[in-house]
Amino acid sequence: MGLFEGKAGLVTGAAGGIGRASAIAFAAEGGSVVVSDLESSREQAEETVAIIESAGGRAIFVPADVSHNESIKNVVDQTVATFGRLDFAHNNAGIVAIGGVTDIEEAAWDRVFEVDVKGVWLSLKHEILYMREHGGGTIVNTASESGLTGTPLASPYVAAKHAVVGLTKTAAGEVANQGIRINAIAPGSVWTPMMASAPSEVQELLLAPQPIHRMGTPEEIANSVIWLCSDLSSYVTGITLSIDGGALANAQSYDPTWSPSAA
Ligand code: NAD
Repeated sequence: MGLFEGKAGLVTGAAGGIGRASAIAFAAEGGSVVVSDLESSREQAEETVAIIESAGGRAIFVPADVSHNESIKNVVDQTVATFGRLDFAHNNAGIVAIGGVTDIEEAAWDRVFEVDVKGVWLSLKHEILYMREHGGGTIVNTASESGLTGTPLASPYVAAKHAVVGLTKTAAGEVANQGIRINAIAPGSVWTPMMASAPSEVQELLLAPQPIHRMGTPEEIANSVIWLCSDLSSYVTGITLSIDGGALANAQSYDPTWSPSAA
């Protein structure tokens, strides 16, 4: 019997990458899954649904922009309306903006915070409001290695992912005795559409400090999401789990060319 047999949940940002892998993994463990992503990613999100269905699982696509209150509330409502319950959630949608502290555009800064921080807060809010009235549940937020350490040229993303780590801690404490566990994951460099869109020199820079010297796969990240959402981790809440090939434990490969000497 699968870990999520008879249960239902949602994954945001599930049109590809880490979110798709976790939606597939929940379904493979018997869970019914709402695959959510932007309307503009409908085609890829429906592909995630098709992969799940072709393996005998249950899934539907519900479009949403996680930065809009009504939009993410509708994802929770549709999960309950379709599958009768909400037991697990992976708040995974996120975006990155590249640029130094002095160069980043204000609009890019704001959008990263809207999606990566406000989006996680709104998701948590509606999930908790349902779960605490219906027997509890488990939630995983996707932070990042950049939520635990600095990453040159990614200041809004680093600040936003640090915020996700803090939000996870405090939300977990608030609901710990209401049957709800909330944790975060901090993936290192993972081969996904987001990573593929980064310039190759940025990819090399990110990979440099990883002792397991290859990109992670979305499936390797999904395995930890499944564990954190299952009863196997029943005494774990408020943590941020690094899944980074040892990067954070061995971050000693900083390239000084990213911090040139003053003229
Ligand atoms: P991805 O770009 O494939 O996935 C992100 C998904 O989020 C996309 O499908 C995108 O359409 C969706 N999305 C963007 N804005 C949204 C919004 N406003 N509302 C709803 N959905 C939205 O990239 P990924 O690498 O799979 O990223 C998934 C998560 O993992 C992100 O939070 C990212 O920050 C995090 N992460 C990725 C890596 C990596 O190396 N790839 C490392 C650490 C953390």
